[in-house]
Amino acid sequence: MLEFDGVAINYGPVSAVRGVSLTVARGEIVALLGPNGAGKTSLLSAAMGLRPLAAGSIRFKGEDLRKLDTENRVRRGLTLTPEGRKVFSNLTVLENLELGAATRRKGPAMQADIEMCFDLFPILAERRDQNGGSLSGGEQQMLAIARALMSRPALLMLDEPSLGLAPRIVGQIFRLIRSLRDRDLTILLVEQNAHEVLRFADRAYVLSTGELRYAGPAARLQDKGALMQAYIGEL
Ligand code: ATP
Repeated sequence: MLEFDGVAINYGPVSAVRGVSLTVARGEIVALLGPNGAGKTSLLSAAMGLRPLAAGSIRFKGEDLRKLDTENRVRRGLTLTPEGRKVFSNLTVLENLELGAATRRKGPAMQADIEMCFDLFPILAERRDQNGGSLSGGEQQMLAIARALMSRPALLMLDEPSLGLAPRIVGQIFRLIRSLRDRDLTILLVEQNAHEVLRFADRAYVLSTGELRYAGPAARLQDKGALMQAYIGEL
């Protein structure tokens, strides 16, 4: 469904990602792991058209994304929940959700999706008229995911959804991400919390200093030693 082929990303003279090829098939949960600065966020940004490619290509549902701007990538069904839960703090929960559907027409379908989000995250229904900024960290993460769902994605990319959250809330967020697969969503998940994610991801990629060090079943990395070996490219 999503294919990166020989992707390179630069920041001026700095090479952040080199020669990365990875795929995400329909219905999969794929984990993208790696230490800070490995280039994970850069790859997700490039898929959304927020960073240019220095080399290679990215295809979504067989279509080369280079000719599509970010808005049209969202319209095709590709969405990103960025790192740091960027919710609009001065807008209410409901307004945040409506903005998530900005690429769609207002109407009964959008209303139904808002209700779907409230079913999925009952706490957001309770807080619907509260400002985003007044929510707890976990609630903001839920709002960020719910907002992404409002664009009706086929493939959702999540950048570090557990960052800064208490362990109990992290478990809740991960359970929710797993449940999204049952709603016919395909997921590419960037995480530092590798061990939790490896328990439910189908496949994993490990990126380190801009290059892929591992591509294969997530289960193979469950052992801590194996993950460390993958980080240094010796698995
Ligand atoms: P993290 O988990 O810390 O976000 P990451 O794996 O997502 O790490 P990226 O954020 O993609 O990594 O960064 C990859 C490399 O590109 C790093 O060396 C980083 O310093 C560099 N980089 C990222 N954004 C910029 C930028 N705006 N300007 C210059 N260099 C950048």
